[in-house]
Amino acid sequence: MKYVSTRGQAPVLTFEQAMLTGLARDGGLYVPESWPTLSMEKIASFAGKPYEHVAFEVMKPFIGDTFTDAEFKDIIAKAYATFGHQARVPMVQLDANHYLLELFHGPTLAFKDVAMQLIGQMFEVALKRRGETVTIVGATSGDTGSAAMEAFKGLDAVNLFIMYPHGRVSDVQRRQMTTPSESNVHALAVDGDFDTCQGLLKDMFNDFDFRDGVKLAGVNSINWARVLAQVVYYFTSAVALGAPTRKVSFTVPTGNFGDIFAAYVAKRIGLPIDRLIIATNQNDILHRTLATGDHSKTGVTPSISPSMDIQVSSNFERLVFDLYDREGAAVNQLFEALKTDGSFTLSQGALTQLREEFDSGRCSEEETSATIKSYAARTGEVLCPHTAVGVKVAEQFLNEDTPMITLATAHPAKFPAAVKAATGIHPELPARMADLFERDERFTRVAGDLTAVTDLIKERVLT
Ligand SMILES: *Cc1c(COP(=O)(O)O)cnc(C)c1O
Repeated sequence: MKYVSTRGQAPVLTFEQAMLTGLARDGGLYVPESWPTLSMEKIASFAGKPYEHVAFEVMKPFIGDTFTDAEFKDIIAKAYATFGHQARVPMVQLDANHYLLELFHGPTLAFKDVAMQLIGQMFEVALKRRGETVTIVGATSGDTGSAAMEAFKGLDAVNLFIMYPHGRVSDVQRRQMTTPSESNVHALAVDGDFDTCQGLLKDMFNDFDFRDGVKLAGVNSINWARVLAQVVYYFTSAVALGAPTRKVSFTVPTGNFGDIFAAYVAKRIGLPIDRLIIATNQNDILHRTLATGDHSKTGVTPSISPSMDIQVSSNFERLVFDLYDREGAAVNQLFEALKTDGSFTLSQGALTQLREEFDSGRCSEEETSATIKSYAARTGEVLCPHTAVGVKVAEQFLNEDTPMITLATAHPAKFPAAVKAATGIHPELPARMADLFERDERFTRVAGDLTAVTDLIKERVLT
């Protein structure tokens, strides 16, 4: 399997190269050259199997010969051994034909652990074999950064820098990033919002001197390997509810479009999915795009679901690439316009195709709180605010024929203030991280400016 850039101007890479590179040199994102297919028999054979078994089978066609089968099985086993639930991603029922897929049993209590734990193990094996060291820089609205810290701390071949918007992440998120004591991980509190951080990261990748000098690698959701890891749980959950003989639908609380793009990949490679529903909070660029075809940035309004406070959904570019029949030049034009003018408009053909695959909904702050409250009362399930956005939007699409699976993207204890305000309940951290608020914090405050950040990274890595 080879990987091509969505802008069509960067070298074609292997899985290993695409994983270690992150953003393509032409500013695009790497995607598989073609979509493999899993047969109905293969999908049916997943019934009753452990998560790790399905993970191996779903990801195998994408990794080429980067790892031997034995290596890859070992990587998967190590990645998910850190999870606090034997099923890894268990499901609970919320209502008639409405299910919640709990993706928050990893070490930092958000779904990003599912991919990040795997990537940590994959990087370690690949880099050890190459005898190389890399600098990983990530931008986070909260959950990616902590997941990366947990996945990479203590590894010899990796220096990790995580940029997060100063003052705009929850206390739990911040402490998960600032309390690991390993010297190879660095938390950077950037003055700005998430889009500032993500913009800095993109600019770093486009600064080839810096990029090559520190051997820059990325693990943001632009990294293909992360998207790939997330494809797996669409299969495990759908099969548990009767796929492939029965179709299911998914509602995905969406920010950077990584998680729902993984759902689209699952569908492309053979999983019978009926509807894919994009759920946004008040930062609703994707919902507006589906309504009118107009993809325009309006600035981020902070919400109680901060991991979705995004106006530039990076992974949307991967979908646009398919919507434009994989024409790199067309994608380049659109995303250059987004950068310079703050907007682009999808062609009628692309918009029609987008609507064939996806629906969308938006959930206000009041609706988010009300949803947390009503589900706690009616079902006993305490939802995190991101999950509540998904559940609220999913309600509009429930029917008796097709099971709806809504993704529970974080544990409520990661966002205790919002949950307490809605329900009066203070959600407790699981026992394995109960001492989080007693640990020492360590972070560096830095201006939201490219030179300030790159100088700091160079100083720590190159001296
Ligand atoms: C990252 C995140 C999201 C959004 O996922 P994307 O892949 O960026 O669309 C939703 N909920 C939580 C809790 C997250 O951490």
